[in-house]
Amino acid sequence: MSLRRDRLWLAFLALGTLCSALFALDVAADAASALIGVACVLAWAYGPRLHAVHPRRPWRLMTAAAAFFLAGIILRALLLDQPSPVAQLGDACTVCGFGFFIAALVTFLNRWGMDRRALLDGLIVCIGAALASTMLFVLPAASIPGRPPVVTLLAGLYPLLDTVTVLLVANLAFTTAVRQPAFMLMGAMMVLLFCGDLGYAIIGRQGDVVGPRLMALPFLFAFTLGGTAALHPTAKALGRATPLPIQAWSLPRMLLIGPAVASPFLLTVTLGADTRIERWALGAGGAAIVALLLVRASDAVQSHAAAQRRFEHQATHDPLTGLPNRRMLSIMVERLLGEDRTARAANVWMFYLDLDGFKLVNDSWGHPAGDQLIVDVGARLRHALPAAATIARVGGDEFVVVQCCTEPEAMANAQRIMDCVERPLLVVTADGGTAEIVIGASMGIVQAPKRTGGRDGQADALMRDADTAMYRAKAAGRNRWTVFDASMRDAVRERVEIEVALRAAVAHEQLSIAYQPIVAMHTGRPAGAEALCRWQHPVRGWIGPNMFIAVAEDSNLISALGAWVLRESVQQLARWRAGGVVDDDFWMSVNVSPRQLGDPAFAERLGGTLRQAGVPAANLVLEITESVMVEGSDLTERVLAELRALGVRIAVDDFGTGFSALGYLRRHPVTGVKIDRSFVNGLGSSAEDEEIVRAVVAMSSALHLTVVAEGVETPAQRDVLIALGVPLAQGWLWGKAVDPATFAATWAVRVALSGAAPSD
Ligand code: C2E
Ligand code: CA
Ligand code: CA
Repeated sequence: MSLRRDRLWLAFLALGTLCSALFALDVAADAASALIGVACVLAWAYGPRLHAVHPRRPWRLMTAAAAFFLAGIILRALLLDQPSPVAQLGDACTVCGFGFFIAALVTFLNRWGMDRRALLDGLIVCIGAALASTMLFVLPAASIPGRPPVVTLLAGLYPLLDTVTVLLVANLAFTTAVRQPAFMLMGAMMVLLFCGDLGYAIIGRQGDVVGPRLMALPFLFAFTLGGTAALHPTAKALGRATPLPIQAWSLPRMLLIGPAVASPFLLTVTLGADTRIERWALGAGGAAIVALLLVRASDAVQSHAAAQRRFEHQATHDPLTGLPNRRMLSIMVERLLGEDRTARAANVWMFYLDLDGFKLVNDSWGHPAGDQLIVDVGARLRHALPAAATIARVGGDEFVVVQCCTEPEAMANAQRIMDCVERPLLVVTADGGTAEIVIGASMGIVQAPKRTGGRDGQADALMRDADTAMYRAKAAGRNRWTVFDASMRDAVRERVEIEVALRAAVAHEQLSIAYQPIVAMHTGRPAGAEALCRWQHPVRGWIGPNMFIAVAEDSNLISALGAWVLRESVQQLARWRAGGVVDDDFWMSVNVSPRQLGDPAFAERLGGTLRQAGVPAANLVLEITESVMVEGSDLTERVLAELRALGVRIAVDDFGTGFSALGYLRRHPVTGVKIDRSFVNGLGSSAEDEEIVRAVVAMSSALHLTVVAEGVETPAQRDVLIALGVPLAQGWLWGKAVDPATFAATWAVRVALSGAAPSD
C-alpha cells in the first residue's frame, strides 16, 4: 500500500505526459487538456493528505491557484468569440490564479524563514526581469492604438505578475539548501509557466491575445510537473526546508543576478530609449539595482566583519565565563611587558590563583554547580578589581589577574582576590535545591622584572613563576598566597633533578626502609612497626621522604616505589616472625599513597605478596591519608573494600589535619586512626589539643577504631596520652626509625618482655 502510495507520482507523470502528447498531436486535444488540468487540481488537493504533510495552508492555496488557472484556460477557449468584457472572464480567472499562486509561494517562504540577503538578491533579479518585460512587452503593448483598455491592461499585467513570480521563485531558490525532487519539479513548473507567459507576451506586442494552439503546451507540462510534485513523497520537505547557512554569491546565483544587473545597459543598447517613459523606466530600474547591490555588498561586508569578530572572540575567550583565555592573556601580558617601566613605580604584577576544593564541589554537587561556581568567582573578581586589571581563566579552576600597579596596590589586590573567593557562594545543586558553599584559593604572586627587553615568551615565563609560587602556597597548606622569589625557580629545577635521580633509584632498588616501633604505652612493648622509606642519594646524601615522596607522587613513580616498599616490608616481617624477633600479634604499618589505591589490581597483588611471604593479612596495616576518603573515586572505594575483605587493616594517617569529617570514617572500611603529631606536640601545655585528643578517643571507641598517637617525644606527652586513654604510640621517646638489623637488636621480643624500653 505504502509502496503504491509512494509511486503515485510516477503514474501521474505518465498520465500528464500522455495527455500533453495527445494535445500536441491534436488527438482529443480539448479532453486531454481538461483531464490534465483536473488531475492537477486533484493532485494538489490530495497530495498533502497522502504524505501527511503539514501545514496544509500553502497547499490549499496552490490547489486554488491550479483550479483558477484551469478555469481560466477553459473559459478563455469557450468565450473566445464573445465581445470584449465577457471574453476577458477567462483572464480574470487566470489573474485570480496568480493571486493564489503568489500567496502560496509567500506562505512557503515564510515557513522557511526568508533571509534578508536572499530577499535582496531576489529583488535584484526581479527588477531586472521587470525592466526587461516593461521594455519588451508592456510598453509596446500599451502603445498599440484602438484596443479596449481592459486588453491593454491585461497585456501589461501578465508580465508583471510573472515578474513577481520570478522574484518569489528566486527567493525560494536562494533560501533553501536542500534540493529534493519535489522542489525541483516545482521549480521546473514555474519555469514552464514563465515560458508560456513569455510566449503570450511576445504575441501581445503585436496586439494579439490568441496564438497557435501549441502555445498552451508549456502550461500543460507545467500542470503535469506541478501535480507530480504534489504527489512526490519528498513534498513533505517543502514545508520545512533547511535554510542555506551562508548566503554567498555562488556561480548559479551569479548567473541569475549578473544578467539582471546588466539588463538596464543591455536594454538601452539594444532597444534604445526613445521615449521619455522608456528613459525613466531604465533610469529608475538601473538606479534601484545599483542601490540594492550597495545594500547587499555592505551587508555582506558587515556580516563578514561580525563573523570575524565572533571568531576572534571565541579563539581568545573562555566560553563559560567570557573572560580572556590563556592565549589572549599571553598577548596582553606581552604587550604590558613591552612598555617601558624602568622609571616608574608601577610594575606588572601577576596573580595566579587556583581554587581549593573545587573537585570536591564538582563531585558532591555536580558539574553544573561547579560551572556556576567558576562563573560566580569570575564575576566577583571582575567586580572587586580595578577596571585596569586583566582577569583571565587559564584552566579548569585557575584564574590569572594581571595589573600594572605599585607594590602596596598589588598587596591590596591580593587581599581583595582572596576575599572574593572566600565569601560563601550559593550554587544550584543537581537535585534542584541550593547549597551554600565555602571554598578557598591558593595564589602565587609574581612581579615582572623591570627590564624584560622585549624578549619572546616572557609572558609564559612570568606565568610559570606565578604558577610555581601558587604551588608553594598550596603545599604550605592551601588558602593562602605566596610571592615568588628566584629561589623557588631553583627549587623547581632541583625537583626535576631529584625526579631523574629517584627514577634511577627506584629502578635499581637503591632505596631502603627504616622501621620505627609502635609501642603499647602501659608496657613499653613493641606492638608493631611503621615502615618508612629512606633514600641515600649518591651526591646529596640522605634525603628525607618528605621531599622525595611528593616528587614520586607528582611523577607517577609512587606506584613502583610503593609496591617495592610493601613487598620489602612484608618480607621483613616474615623474616622477623620466623626468627622469633617479634611475636605473632606484631604488625607492620605501611604508608600507601592515594595513587596506589587507584590501581584496580592493588588488593589482588597485595594478597599474593602476603600469601607468598606467609604473613596473615591482619598483621598488615595500611596507612592512608584523609584525602583518600574525601577525594577518592568509586574505584578507590572498591579497592579499600577488597583490602578489608582480604583482612588487611586500614588506618587513617595524620588524623585531624585534613577534613576530619566523622561521616567519612563511618562510610569507609577503616580500622584505626593515627593522631597527628601536631596535636600530640601540645599535650601538657595546650588544653585545646587535649580536648581534640579526648574527642578522637571517644569517637574511635564508639566506632571501634584503634588509636595510635604519633610523634611522642616527652614523658609528659606520654603521661597525658595514657590519662586520656590512648593505648598505643610511636615517637622518638621510644626510638627513631632504624635499619632492620638495629631494629631486631633493639626490639626483639625478649628485650621487650623484660619490660625495659631502652630510651625511656
Ligand atoms: P608519617 O607517615 O606521618 O610518618 C611519621 C613521620 O614522623 C616519620 O618521618 C617519622 O620519622 C617521624 N617521626 C616519628 N616519631 C617522631 C617524633 O617523635 N617526633 C618527630 N618530630 N617526628 C617523628 P619520615 O620518616 O621523614 O616520613 C615522612 C613521611 O613520608 C611519612 O609521614 C609518610 O607520610 C611518608 N612516607 C615515608 N615512607 C613512605 C612510603 O613508603 N610510602 C609512602 N607513600 N609514604 C611514605
Ligand atoms: Ca604514616
Ligand atoms: Ca603520620
